[in-house]
Amino acid sequence: MSETERINFEKMSRFQFDRAAEAMALDPETRGLLKMPFREIQVKIPVRMDDGHLEVFIGYRVQHNNARGPMKGGIRYHPEVDLGEIRSLAALMTWKTAVVNIPFGGAKGGIVCDSKRLSPAETERMTRTFISMLDTVIGPYQDIPAPDVNTNPQVMAWIMDEYSRRHGYTPGIVTGKPVDVGGSKGREEATGRGCVFVLQEAARDYNLDLGKARIVIQGIGNVGSHVARFMTELGGRVVAISDSGGGIYNPDGLPMDRVLAYKSEKRNLSGFPGSRSVTNEALLELDCDILIPSALGGVIHKFNADRIKAKMIAEAANNPTTTTADEILEKNGVVVIPDILANAGGVTVSYFEWTQNLQQLSWEEEQVNRELRKIMTRSYQHVASVAREKRVSLRVAAYIVALEKVARATRLRGI
Ligand code: NAD
Repeated sequence: MSETERINFEKMSRFQFDRAAEAMALDPETRGLLKMPFREIQVKIPVRMDDGHLEVFIGYRVQHNNARGPMKGGIRYHPEVDLGEIRSLAALMTWKTAVVNIPFGGAKGGIVCDSKRLSPAETERMTRTFISMLDTVIGPYQDIPAPDVNTNPQVMAWIMDEYSRRHGYTPGIVTGKPVDVGGSKGREEATGRGCVFVLQEAARDYNLDLGKARIVIQGIGNVGSHVARFMTELGGRVVAISDSGGGIYNPDGLPMDRVLAYKSEKRNLSGFPGSRSVTNEALLELDCDILIPSALGGVIHKFNADRIKAKMIAEAANNPTTTTADEILEKNGVVVIPDILANAGGVTVSYFEWTQNLQQLSWEEEQVNRELRKIMTRSYQHVASVAREKRVSLRVAAYIVALEKVARATRLRGI
């Protein structure tokens, strides 16, 4: 069993919630209201496979909170999806949308499956059946899914089509769609771009020169690949990057254009010319200035936190740091930009996509990126000022900002 498998994500998110609730002296009634998810759904998804046999998958949707607007959150396809982790990720979405002050609540979904072993036709059938089963509890003013691990714009297009079959053309039911069917320009790069906007602000605060920074990235999927590209554009050196099979390392920096082309051609990174291979565990402990976990949760834990050499960690992935690791990193003076801020660029452009769908108009990419920068910069500065004022970490400060907003909305709307 790996360390990540032993991690209790639900306990992790409860701990972060309690720490912030304590720091802001949130009353017990509101604590109880905000902690508990609004609704949890588990469904059985029968899928006729290409060879004719029937397989049954399990799907989840957890709707955490809708005090500030319709619930919002991705759907992931992964063999290790479980209800506890989805619950924790749904709560993270409530806090994330509040930190960046967009009018959404939080939700998350997932299907337990090995998506790499499914054909496109099987993935489509599984997706459509899942969405048809959620039909009465999702909607553009109720709960709006989005991409996450192993789901992409094509999957979002199937979701939009499946929902629209029953309700008429409804692009606002899902975000992260291809631009041709109502997606927003700039959505695919948004999480990575938003993370880099936040890093630019943090680097100024902590005297880090991004133009000279040595960067390590775990994950080269949607988020990791774009973070790598944008950091390189700023002059930073990506010295290591990985996929699920392991990583590649070159202390002089990796040529990211060539690495991305190699990955898309060979489907993996191993053997990239001029690099040494490195395991995903060792990659996290490499000598660098900025570490950007961009894959799965729980990868920085009590057994490796003390060996992290990065000065700053930007949590592009959700839940990458366990609570014990968080304390160790804080004690060691490592600056951690928490997930609910660092990766909020994705849901922010999802919000732009949804508003464009509702208004039936389309923004130019330049407008998307300009508005994204505005929101990410303002959110970082707000969180950083609360951290300074209350002498707490950026994570506790981000939770305080979020909890205050959700608590206020709950009180105003009435219980
Ligand atoms: P993705 O499926 O596009 O990419 C995931 C990457 O992680 C791939 O490179 C994969 O090879 C790698 N990976 C998988 N298992 C691994 C393992 N055991 N060790 C190391 N690497 C592994 O997913 P994504 O959309 O890039 O999401 C990555 C993370 O970012 C997730 O934690 C997700 O919740 C979070 N996130 C994504 C978005 C978004 O807009 N896509 C927004 C916010 C947060």
